[in-house]
Amino acid sequence: MPKLPLKYFCYVCGQQNDLTLNIPVAPKMSRDEITCSKCGDVTNLLLTSCPECKESFKYFLSDLDFPHELTTLADVYVKLIRGIKNSLSEVVEEFKVPLPKRWSVKLDCQCGKEYTAEIPLPQL
Ligand SMILES: [Zn+2]
Ligand SMILES: [Zn+2]
Repeated sequence: MPKLPLKYFCYVCGQQNDLTLNIPVAPKMSRDEITCSKCGDVTNLLLTSCPECKESFKYFLSDLDFPHELTTLADVYVKLIRGIKNSLSEVVEEFKVPLPKRWSVKLDCQCGKEYTAEIPLPQL
């Protein structure tokens, strides 16, 4: 697992935080939380790195609300499926819906490699 330095400027107070993060190689993706050393603001990160050169990494910050919305969306989806399941329980004996365990995102690296990373979803 490559360790990569990341300079992160807090979007609340502007403090520079120097981080060293363990970044998994795609298609693995990790969720991380970083806390601003000055104001304590917490930012969620999704991290992955290029499987070809292992040097360039991609991250998604929560100022786009990306991880939050993804997991919220996944949660809603899971609840929805569960609701359908419950309402059908008297009619059919068993109702199976294949739930996606992960979502994939396509990424490209500056080395020219295109690769896929998988976003972990909350499980039932
Ligand atoms: Zn801060
Ligand atoms: Zn690369």
